[in-house]
Amino acid sequence: MQKYTVNKEAARAVAIALAAAMICLAALSPFIVTAIVSRASRQVVVIDAGHGGDDAGVRGVLTGVKESDLNLSVSKLLGECFEGCGFEVVYTRRSDVMHSFDGVTGNKKRADMFRRGEMINKAKPRAVISVHMNFYELRSRRGAQAFFKASSPSSRQFADFVQDGLNELNMANGGRTYSALSAEKYLLSCSPYPTVIVECGFLSNPDDEKNLLDPAYQITLARTIFQATLNFFNCAQSA
Ligand SMILES: [Zn+2]
Repeated sequence: MQKYTVNKEAARAVAIALAAAMICLAALSPFIVTAIVSRASRQVVVIDAGHGGDDAGVRGVLTGVKESDLNLSVSKLLGECFEGCGFEVVYTRRSDVMHSFDGVTGNKKRADMFRRGEMINKAKPRAVISVHMNFYELRSRRGAQAFFKASSPSSRQFADFVQDGLNELNMANGGRTYSALSAEKYLLSCSPYPTVIVECGFLSNPDDEKNLLDPAYQITLARTIFQATLNFFNCAQSA
């Protein structure tokens, strides 16, 4: 009898718990559905400001400006272009830092790059744009260039669109045109997503350095890369 009573009470408790769970699920389901839908339709772009922290990259021949600082300025302007159009932007850094990575000690650059790769793969973006400044022993070399991984057709196509935009900018500023070039870089091969490295100009060239330090030029550069990325997305969508 007592046993029966216990079972009856237990069954009642289970029934109440089930009813409560169903009510909770019913209340939650619209949010779950919304979350799934918005996740499916979100447009994520990763913007990677090259270098940072102890790794300043190259420096301008005129002013000694750090590549890492210019990379960050252009990356933030580029991010604003995407955010203004409703994209979700994941920045690999938003300040002057190097990242650490679990299990990698004694090689700060390697740890920093691994962390960036991890962020990219977690974000599952439509595109990855890594922003850098170039340097070359020949001071006359100038202009912006796009780089891609040779074995990635989507990255090659993306880089071609970006290079087309950069060539217009190069020509409008007394520079020259380039073809997008393949390169072997960790950031180009650490994820399956279309990725370009944009070398925005040569800090070994005084004219390029002057331009790259000019906030108005940085905005034009960011808009150029942004528009080229939209062109790439439109082309990929209609293919
Ligand atoms: Zn660099």
